Amino acid sequence: MHVITDLNETTLCFSCGSLFFDFSGKYGHDLLGKIDGCHVITKEGKEKLSCTCCNEDIIEEDSYFILTIEDDILNDIADQVGADIGGCTYCEGEERGHFVHAFNNDPHDPSSRMEQPEGITLSEYFFDKDVPEELYQLLCTHIQCPCGHGRDAYNNDNSNRGIFEIDDDIYTKRDVADYWGFQYEEFCAFSQSYGVTIEKDDLNNFRTYLSRYPMLALKHPVGKAIYQTLEKHFEARDFSLLTPKVGTLYRGRTRKRDTPTVLTKEQMWAPPQGHPQHGRYNSIGVPVLYVADRLDAIPYEIHPTHEDVLDIGEFQILRKELHLFDLGSFDPTFQGFFNEMNEETKILKQAYLLPNFIGTCCSFIGYHGVRYEGVHDKELTYTNYALFNIEPGVDIQVRDVICYAPQFTITLEEIPQFTKRSPTDFF
Ligand SMILES: [Zn+2]
Ligand SMILES: [Zn+2]
Repeated sequence: MHVITDLNETTLCFSCGSLFFDFSGKYGHDLLGKIDGCHVITKEGKEKLSCTCCNEDIIEEDSYFILTIEDDILNDIADQVGADIGGCTYCEGEERGHFVHAFNNDPHDPSSRMEQPEGITLSEYFFDKDVPEELYQLLCTHIQCPCGHGRDAYNNDNSNRGIFEIDDDIYTKRDVADYWGFQYEEFCAFSQSYGVTIEKDDLNNFRTYLSRYPMLALKHPVGKAIYQTLEKHFEARDFSLLTPKVGTLYRGRTRKRDTPTVLTKEQMWAPPQGHPQHGRYNSIGVPVLYVADRLDAIPYEIHPTHEDVLDIGEFQILRKELHLFDLGSFDPTFQGFFNEMNEETKILKQAYLLPNFIGTCCSFIGYHGVRYEGVHDKELTYTNYALFNIEPGVDIQVRDVICYAPQFTITLEEIPQFTKRSPTDFF
């Protein structure tokens, strides 16, 4: 395989050198002819010379390069290429390992098992980023994980750390967020913007604490800090607004096909407090009304079966503005709070604990709800709202209820024998 391992007085034929310049140009470094060590040379004399990448002979009169590129430039390119790296074996991998170990060794539930989802190799990542294969090795030595593993690792105290190998596992930011269902780093930065300091590791520990003492969240310093952050965000009026301009919002409920009557407008509201169907898991403690801004999104939100018809309520905002917390920006996989549709599994509980705590804080502080994005098949994107602290007929009204019969299309997809599961696969 043709490989460029470094660029320090490295002899390259015209084609291999150009490959590098094309690549660096894509990342804002237009180097050819601009800086020392980046000039085309014409081969003179008869002595043997070959390209260190492709091994082709460079003969008399050929154009070629003797390239020297500063580390600063290569580091900058590597940082841009690596911008989507969210973790590596030494940070994310270890955290997942602890989590899977704890899950599989739960004395109260010996039967449930989960496998540790792996990341992708650095070379797979480079492939996805359209890096030419010849440059994998070079770039590999300049890549750095947010945890510090990688190029400057020798400057850190941790003696386990070092430069990346091309087959090392990494996890993309998207993968990390999908796995844990919460963007810890972004939430810490968000808190910091209100002068509240939360460390990412502490936020992680808080999640474990919540699973033991969900009712005592505010006894924990991170619980207090989250509350403070949400309160300051509210007081600064930085919340997102929901106004009548949003247009019609929809909520669907399923009904068995053999039940003749369409649900009434009143039945379209969230089940009232204490209603058995509301379930004991709505730890947010108040009724929550789930609405979406697209009619065609509703079937994906409430999963009707063949025996069901859908009664879809059309809601309209009446109040000038409702104040919402954008929970979706911290939890891209957020599906709503514990509610009547969710079953109890311990992994699901874990995934829901932090958002539920945040929801409870929001409700107490005076927000009217949270907003989050819904995605189906990448093509259908819509916005969901989980509303609380709202008064029917004053803040929002049901304009109409329309009955729909869902149409199904079935396709078969083979399930691979070994599946990787993550906490978010469970709901
Ligand atoms: Zn070459
Ligand atoms: Zn790392």
